[in-house]
Amino acid sequence: MDSLNIENVKKSFGQVEVLKGIDLDVADGEFVVFVGPSGCGKSTLLRVIAGLEDATSGRIVIDGRDVSSTPPAKRGIAMVFQTYALYPHLTVKNNMGLGLKQAGTPSAEIDKRVAEASAMLSLEPYLQRRPAELSGGQRQRVAIGRAVVREPTLFLFDEPLSNLDAALRVNTRLEIAQLHRRLKATMIYVTHDQVEAMTLADRIVVLNGGRIEQIGAPMELYNSPANEFVAGFIGSPR
Ligand code: ADP
Ligand code: MG
Repeated sequence: MDSLNIENVKKSFGQVEVLKGIDLDVADGEFVVFVGPSGCGKSTLLRVIAGLEDATSGRIVIDGRDVSSTPPAKRGIAMVFQTYALYPHLTVKNNMGLGLKQAGTPSAEIDKRVAEASAMLSLEPYLQRRPAELSGGQRQRVAIGRAVVREPTLFLFDEPLSNLDAALRVNTRLEIAQLHRRLKATMIYVTHDQVEAMTLADRIVVLNGGRIEQIGAPMELYNSPANEFVAGFIGSPR
C-alpha cells in the first residue's frame, strides 16, 4: 500500500502560484528525497503534506485516508526542521517526551519510548541536559528523537543537516539512514545537497519552479537525466 499520495496539489500565496500541480505516490517504507533550487517550493510541499499549510487545490492521502482537512496533530506525521525548534528550558528527556505528554500518553509509556529513541540516537548521556549544553549535532538528534517517540507513519525532514558542519553532517546522515532501516518508516527528506540525496534516497524527486522535473532512483537520474536542468542538478558536482 502507498503510504502517501499527493494528488494534483497546487498552492498559491496571493497571486503567486508556488506549487503548480504536484503528483506523487510514496510507497510504505520508502525514502524519498526532494531536491531543487532555493524557492522552488520544497518546504511549502512538506508543509502542505504536514497540514501546516492548506493546499489551494488537490488532495493529500495518507495510508488511504484523505487528510486534506485533518489537523496536523492528527495526520500521524512528525516533522524535523533545520532549526531544531527545541524548548530551551526543558531537558532533553522532556523535550523528547513533551508531545506525548500533551497527547495524554501515560508517563511509563513516555519513559519507555524516550529510552528506546535515546538509545537509537546515542542520546542516553544527555537526557538531563538542556539544549544550550549540547552541540548542534546533538540538538538535531534530540529533534529527531522527539519525532521518533511519536511513532509516526511518516517522517518529514526539511534540510535537517544544513546548520551542521561537514563532519557532523556525515554522522547525522548515517544515523538517519540507520533509523530508516530500523524503523522501516516512510521518510520524505528535503535537501539541496547532492550527496545526501544520492546516498539516502530510494527515489529522488527533482523540483523546479513548483513542478516536478523528474522522479527516479538516484542512479537513474544520474545516468539518464530527463533534461539539462536535472543533469545540472544531479550530474555535476556543485
Ligand atoms: P524552498 O523550500 O524550495 O526553498 P519554499 O517552499 O520555502 O521554497 O518557497 C517557495 C516560494 O513560496 C518562495 O518564492 C517563497 O518566497 C514563497 N513562500 C513560501 N511561504 C510563503 C508564505 N507564507 N507567504 C508568501 N510566500 C511564501
Ligand atoms: Mg525550504
